[in-house]
Amino acid sequence: MFRRRDFINLVGVSAVLLGFSRLASALTKPKFEIFNEEPAIKVKVRRWERENYTYISELYTENKNNANEIKAFNEKNLNKKFLFLPKRLLRKVLNNTIEEDKYTIYKLGAQGENGINDLDDIAKDFMNDSYGLDDKLAVLLVINDIDPKNKELKEGDLVIVPRFFVDFNIEEKPSPYEFDIVPKLSDNFQNPLKIKSADSIIKNLKRRYVYGARRLRGDDEEGKFFIISRHLGIDIPMPVGFALYPIQDGKFIYGGKDNDKPGNGIRVTYKTKDGLIVTYLHLSWVNNKLSLGSEINKNTILGKVGTTGNVEKDDPHVHVQITFNGKNVNPSPYILVDTRDYVLDLDRQFFKR
Ligand SMILES: [Zn+2]
Repeated sequence: MFRRRDFINLVGVSAVLLGFSRLASALTKPKFEIFNEEPAIKVKVRRWERENYTYISELYTENKNNANEIKAFNEKNLNKKFLFLPKRLLRKVLNNTIEEDKYTIYKLGAQGENGINDLDDIAKDFMNDSYGLDDKLAVLLVINDIDPKNKELKEGDLVIVPRFFVDFNIEEKPSPYEFDIVPKLSDNFQNPLKIKSADSIIKNLKRRYVYGARRLRGDDEEGKFFIISRHLGIDIPMPVGFALYPIQDGKFIYGGKDNDKPGNGIRVTYKTKDGLIVTYLHLSWVNNKLSLGSEINKNTILGKVGTTGNVEKDDPHVHVQITFNGKNVNPSPYILVDTRDYVLDLDRQFFKR
């Protein structure tokens, strides 16, 4: 959950951005000025871009054939670190961006969520479709002053996005992405709650709870920033205190506070006999009889559902995330399963506490 104290206003954002050498400060976004007696933008060009008018032409005007005109337009411009580009040639999306002059900031999220690796991911998944992909990428490169040869992103990076591209309903839409095929393993899994039928889990799943769900957290007040992420686990809503079991026999790895990512709260991680590394987040309690290497089986209580980390108190759930051979996999096939040899049904387990 996004906390109010995470907000900073746009003034604060521009100060923060100065710490990110790859990203433009709020002050360097293009503005129209008069050059050669017509409105134009003045843009910084990198050394490798300087004589590359074809590239510049395509990036800013969507058409390689304006290269000669751009070159001629800059005949009187002796400062080779900048180029002037006439408004009449610019991509429509750039004209609209500059005219609107309203921006928001996307901050790449973490905490059991990530999966955003480059500008393509942002353009495809976190901007609306009022323009095509090429236009979205061009505007991101230009207003963030990003070198297209180095456009990989990492957790915590900030990216400026024109306000009209923000899609506020993103969480309600299915992810356009298909994720890796899940490895076929032995089929003797149980769900982490050890309840007889997975239907009671499935019927409570909202779009934003599932694997791959896009998330845009923040506020729609102008000038605030949004945290964007792809959800790389499944959130199962359950009351605080509900017991959690392994999905398969295996070995315990870790139980306790997640020191690397405090938003994860209290975490349990174990490895199943099939080699899946399974993590549960936001627990209220962990079984402290378990430590690295402890044998666990389908009847071992690992911990209990809670709201630790970045979870609202009225939204208790367990976040279940699985990796296999170092890669995130869709947990659904392993956890949205009926528990055959269940001991307790949902109601009995709940009321027993
Ligand atoms: Zn989650």
